[in-house]
Amino acid sequence: MDKDKQKTVAIIGAGLVGSLAANIMANRGYRVELFEKRQDIRKMKVAKGRSINLALSNRARVALRIIGLEDEVLKASTPMKGRLIHDVNGNTKSVPYDSINGQCLYSISRNFLNKLLIQEMENKSDIKINFNCKLVDADFTDQKITFLNIEKSEHFSLNPDFVIAADGAHSVIRRVMQHRCKINYSQTFIDHGYIELTLDSNHGHLMVPNHLHIWPRGTFMMIALPNLDGSWTVTLFMPFEKFNALKTSDKLLSFFNTTFPDFLALTTSSQLIKDFFRKQPLPLISVKCEPYHQKRFLLIGDAAHAMVPFYGQGMNAGFEDCSILSNLLDRHCDNVDLVFERFTELRRKDVFAICDLAMYNYEEMRDLVTKTSYRLRKSVDETLYRCFPGIWIPLYNSVTFTSMGYNQCMQNRQWQNRVLMASAFSIILSIFLASYIMCNII
Ligand code: FAD
Repeated sequence: MDKDKQKTVAIIGAGLVGSLAANIMANRGYRVELFEKRQDIRKMKVAKGRSINLALSNRARVALRIIGLEDEVLKASTPMKGRLIHDVNGNTKSVPYDSINGQCLYSISRNFLNKLLIQEMENKSDIKINFNCKLVDADFTDQKITFLNIEKSEHFSLNPDFVIAADGAHSVIRRVMQHRCKINYSQTFIDHGYIELTLDSNHGHLMVPNHLHIWPRGTFMMIALPNLDGSWTVTLFMPFEKFNALKTSDKLLSFFNTTFPDFLALTTSSQLIKDFFRKQPLPLISVKCEPYHQKRFLLIGDAAHAMVPFYGQGMNAGFEDCSILSNLLDRHCDNVDLVFERFTELRRKDVFAICDLAMYNYEEMRDLVTKTSYRLRKSVDETLYRCFPGIWIPLYNSVTFTSMGYNQCMQNRQWQNRVLMASAFSIILSIFLASYIMCNII
């Protein structure tokens, strides 16, 4: 891009999605001003925030490929080839994610990935990162954004050519849009929260490697994702009322002893008690809104679509927003007004679909995985996938291992359900008719 005509994009939020977007936009020749309310996470001893590690899959890989970081990220991650289901007696069962093509999820440290994306910007002269700058207001007509410099306690404003808001589930820009523009919005807090526990590397080697471990317990569950150093990040998802009932160390240990005895045998009581009572359980929110743009402002990542974490797609979908944005800028020769409109048109149904799928998957993980009907359906899906790989792609595989629109993934599942129902009905009818004929002949 000609330096004189170079356009300035302000990106709000240097989380995972904002940092990726900044790299992509700078590579496209834009001058990028990135604003983050927190201090530089590279300088923090312990980064505050949500989950310690994340499951990364195809959609995030595609986006990381655009800035040439896919291989480096995969090298720093641990492949998870399937789920390892733990029953209450400590028996385990491995269920591969993709028994046909062997595709995996990758467990990656959130901190590592965020730092890497920020570090990548240091090599680019066209990006300026402003830490400790909190966005406080936005004027969509004058294209003006106002910040508070937290260190200096001073306000300042600027008028970039356009703004990309990646300021997370509680986005300030989205809130201002809700007040001043026609934007549809809904949010749902579920009745369940989560607490993170750790299984240190001294005990972690006792866990079966290269799996996402699940302890499904009907109305709640615990999962564990591996870290590179041999430790595991363990997350307990449970109704708040159940958390509230565990007020003392004795109650906690007795609960783990009856519910997760094999996990309790791996860790130490002191570690469990320390982790569990360190923090209050955190809430889980799902946010849907549309449109995603307002004049020259665009919402991406959790700011546009926060979802419950049970499909492991929040970051993946946010990264996919970045690749879709980049593709649209290519297709429409950087005509930003058109690109933002097209983004909303393209993304609306898909984003709503993945928010709904993420809710559904909690039930699958905490309960259905233990049911015979679920296992039967999975083996039917796998057989048909093996026979018709281009036609019959099971829901989980299409969401996780392809870039098919999430809405299309959901629609495929619906016609697959109809085909299986019709087949089951035909089989039952044939058996009935056959027995009727046999009885009458005999
Ligand atoms: P955020 O990560 O929230 O980043 C927003 C950034 O904006 C932050 O740095 C914040 O400080 C900054 N900011 C906020 N307000 C302002 C302001 N006013 N001014 C300036 N800066 C501001 N996703 C997956 O794909 N796989 C998983 O396995 C997975 N597991 C998860 C497990 C849990 C328990 C949770 C809660 C989420 C999980 N997710 C997962 C979802 C994933 O964490 C999010 O989708 C992802 O972090 C969204 O990134 P983001 O950059 O849009 O938002």
